Amino acid sequence: MDTINHLINGKSVASTSGRTSPVFNPATGEQSAELGLASIEEVDAAVDAAKTAFETWSRVSVAQRTRILFSFRNLVEANIDEIARRLTSEHGKVLSDAAGEIARGIENIEYACGIAEHLKGSYNGNASTGVDVYTVRQPLGVVAGITPFNFPAMVPLWTIPNAIACGNTYVLKPSEKDPSAPLFIAELFHEAGLPEGVLNVVHGDKLAVDRLLEHPDVKAASFVGSTPIAKYVYETGTAAGKRIQALGGAKNHMLVLPDADLGLAADAAVSAAYGSAGERCMAISVVAAVGDVADPLVDAITERMQKLTVGDGTNPDSEMGPLITREHRDKVADYIGIGADEGATVVVDGRDQNFDGDGFFLGVSLLDNVTPEMTVYRDEIFGPVLCVVRCDTYAEARDLISANPWGNGAAIFTRDGGAARDFQETADAGMVGINVPIPVPVGYHSFGGWKDSLFGDVTMYGPEGVNFFTRPKVLTSRWPDPATSTVDLGFPTNT
Ligand code: NAD
Repeated sequence: MDTINHLINGKSVASTSGRTSPVFNPATGEQSAELGLASIEEVDAAVDAAKTAFETWSRVSVAQRTRILFSFRNLVEANIDEIARRLTSEHGKVLSDAAGEIARGIENIEYACGIAEHLKGSYNGNASTGVDVYTVRQPLGVVAGITPFNFPAMVPLWTIPNAIACGNTYVLKPSEKDPSAPLFIAELFHEAGLPEGVLNVVHGDKLAVDRLLEHPDVKAASFVGSTPIAKYVYETGTAAGKRIQALGGAKNHMLVLPDADLGLAADAAVSAAYGSAGERCMAISVVAAVGDVADPLVDAITERMQKLTVGDGTNPDSEMGPLITREHRDKVADYIGIGADEGATVVVDGRDQNFDGDGFFLGVSLLDNVTPEMTVYRDEIFGPVLCVVRCDTYAEARDLISANPWGNGAAIFTRDGGAARDFQETADAGMVGINVPIPVPVGYHSFGGWKDSLFGDVTMYGPEGVNFFTRPKVLTSRWPDPATSTVDLGFPTNT
C-alpha cells in the first residue's frame, strides 16, 4: 500500500501523527493509498518553512519569478497525462475531463506569468511641488489554501500561481480524498526552480485546517468547498484577523425559454448536469423550463441520457465515471427515493443501472415536476441528478433563481435578445451564461458566486486574485526643487 507524504521545505515528510485516511480508486472501490494526516506540529513545520522562505522569495525579482512560472507552466503541460492519470485514479472523472481540468488550471498559471504587468502599481509625479505619490502592491507573507475533492488540480491552481507570483509563500491543504495530483503539481513547481519552502503541502483534516486558521504567521487563507465549511472557515479565519476568501456550494439553474434552440439546450443540460458525475460546483442541477418547452425538453434530455456511457474513467468510451466515495454515492442515490416520496416524477432512475464490481457508480437520474419545497430542490445533491422545475413565465423562473440561497452560476437558453439582456442584468448569481451552461470565467477574469456561494468580498484568480494576495502601500516622497540642484541641468539654477 502506497503512503502519501507531506511536502515541507522541498522534502517529502512522512506524517508521524499516527492518524491516517484511506484513499480509494472510486472505479474499483479498492483502497489505493494511505494518507498520513498532519499533526499540529507538522502544520507548524510547514508554516515555519514558508515563513523562512518568505524572507528571500519576497525579494526575488519579478523577472526571476516570471521565469520560474513559465517553466512551471510548461512542465504542467508536459505532464498532463500523468496528472490526469492521478486525477482519474483518485477522483474517478474520465480522462478527457481530467485533461480539461488541467487546461483550466494552466490558464491561471499563464495569467500569473504576466505578473509584471499586474503589479505595475500607479504613480503621480509632482502631486505637490517636489512631491511624488505612488502605490505599490506588496505580498502578505505566508498564505494557505484549503481545497475540495472535486477539482484536485484546478482549484489549487486558482490561487497558488498568483499567490507565489506576487511574492507570498504558500501552505496547501488539499482534500484528503484525492491528494496525489496536487502533490505532484507542487513537485513540478520545485522542478521548475521554485526555492524550498515557498510551496508546501500538508495533508490533513479539520485539525490541520483549524491550525492554519489560528496560526499567527498565516496571513490569509483561500478556501473552496461546501457552504457550511466555507462559512466556518470565513468566520474563524476573520475572527483571527486573517484575510479570507471562501467559496461555498451551489445549486445552479438553467432557465430555458420556449424559443430556445431545443437541441442546444438539451445537449447543454446533459453535459452540464452529468459531466464529472455532477460533482462540479458549476454543474447544472436545476432546469427551470418555461411554458410549453418543458415536455419536449424533458424528452430531448431523456433521449440523450440514455446514450451516455458510464464507466471506469480510464476507458476512452466512458463519458461519466463513478462518484467520489461509497458513502457519497449512497447518499446521492437516496435523494432519488426522497424526490419520489415528496411527489417528483422520476423520469430516469440512476439506481436502475447495474455495474460490475465494487466501484462507486450510479447511473444518471432525471426528476421532473420538482417544486422549491422539495428536499431535492433545497439540498445540494452534488451528484448526477438533474431536477426540472416547470415555470409558467420567464419572470417566475428568474424569481426562482433569486429566491435560491445559492448564487454561484445561472444560465439562460433563448434566442430572444431582450430576455437575454434582462437576465444578464438581473440574474441573482455571480457568474451568468447566455446559451452557455457552465460560465466559468477565463483566467483573466475572476471566479466567484454570490449569496451562500461566497463568503468574503473577493473572488478567486484573475485581477481579484492579485488584489487578494497583495496589500497596497502608498509612498509619498519629496525631492528638492531642481532649481536647487548643484548639477548643471541646462537651465538657470540657484547655484
Ligand atoms: P468540503 O467542504 O467537505 O471540504 C473542503 C475542504 O475542507 C477539504 O480540504 C476538507 O478537508 C476540509 N474540511 C472538511 N470538513 C472540515 C471541517 N469540519 N473543518 C475544517 N475543514 C474541513 O467539500 P468537498 O466535499 O471536498 O467538495 C465539494 C463541495 O465544494 C461542494 O459543496 C461544492 O459545491 C463545493 N465547491 C465549490 C466551488 C466554488 O467555486 N464555489 C468549487 C468547487 C467545489
